[in-house]
Amino acid sequence: MTHPSFETKIVHHKQDQSQVHNSKTTPIYQTSAFTFKDLDHLESYYEGESPYLYTREKNPNTDELAGTVAELEGAPSGVASSSGMSAILAGILAAVEPGGHIVAAEDVYGGTHKLLTKELPSFGIDVTMVSFNDLDEVEKFIQPHTHLLYTESISNPFLRVEDLKGLSSLAQKHGLKTMVDNTFATPYLVQPYEYGVDLVVHSATKYIGGHSDVTCGVLVGSEALISKASQKIVTLGANLSPFEAWLTQRGAKTLALRMKQQSANAKSVAEALREHNGVKKVFYPEYVSERGHGAIVTIELNESVDVEAFFKSLGWIKIAPTLAGVQTTVSYPVRTSHRALSESEREKIGVNDYVIRLSIGIESGEDIIHQLKSTIDTSIK
Ligand SMILES: *Cc1c(COP(=O)(O)O)cnc(C)c1O
Repeated sequence: MTHPSFETKIVHHKQDQSQVHNSKTTPIYQTSAFTFKDLDHLESYYEGESPYLYTREKNPNTDELAGTVAELEGAPSGVASSSGMSAILAGILAAVEPGGHIVAAEDVYGGTHKLLTKELPSFGIDVTMVSFNDLDEVEKFIQPHTHLLYTESISNPFLRVEDLKGLSSLAQKHGLKTMVDNTFATPYLVQPYEYGVDLVVHSATKYIGGHSDVTCGVLVGSEALISKASQKIVTLGANLSPFEAWLTQRGAKTLALRMKQQSANAKSVAEALREHNGVKKVFYPEYVSERGHGAIVTIELNESVDVEAFFKSLGWIKIAPTLAGVQTTVSYPVRTSHRALSESEREKIGVNDYVIRLSIGIESGEDIIHQLKSTIDTSIK
């Protein structure tokens, strides 16, 4: 066990140093710019002595959040941005030059799939989407102009757990960089940077924020790559607002507690639904970390279940096209996260009309199981 442990670090991260009134939490620096008392003071900014000039470039709240996530991931540097998507774009543009090529996992988040296949070509970046089930197969798609391998630590919606060690050694062998979306696992369960992954990205909209009240991204990695990515965020105007950074930072303080409870609940839900006659398959990772296996459970209902009726009988559980909040919610990948994919693309990865993704919350595990079982029972035809 290393000290301080994750649970301690998350509430005693590097505090903002410029507090004038010794406030216990960092104030919100809701300002678009910073002022200077004279030209020497202004000059000191450009010499790197005074950190802040203009919020789009840098702000104490966004810095605090980025620093916290970097510390939890064990990475030297981090940057926050307006969304998971902008953090992904900034990371890719920092790691891949125009004319470069990416080999990416075909089961990445729907928005990422769209970014990679529909937008990156106009940046002069080529992408090949392949199954990452077998890294020996992935190796066959590496070309002379390949710069980056892109994947997720836990995939969506079937929760395939990436072999991060294997990924890093494959990249090393070919002199490539690696980038991993760690949104589903969070640094509480997995720290890809420790495995040699170059860039780790989060939709902090999900577990890091944790309360479904903010849209936010964080990217962490080496000083050199993060400095390049930060420049992209500044120039593209993809910066995070101080208030949203502050909210995310506040949510992050309970990440360890939430993940512990949500993972334990998810494990019991997976076990209970495996026994249910309305459920054909339960997807839940066998092993992610000694702390738990994540808080998402995906099920494929039996054809005996009326899916429309299922979504009408959820009781206190809400339908939400997102995940990771403190409340248990369900989503329907065919109609939300995987809507942009063609039917044949969906079929290839196994997303059919009976697949439902459960994002398990912090409620009583027994209540969640009770509600889900009764929902399925009432929807059997
Ligand atoms: C939600 C999500 C994203 C996109 O993040 P936004 O904050 O919505 O921009 C990227 N990757 C994964 C795994 C996600 O779940």
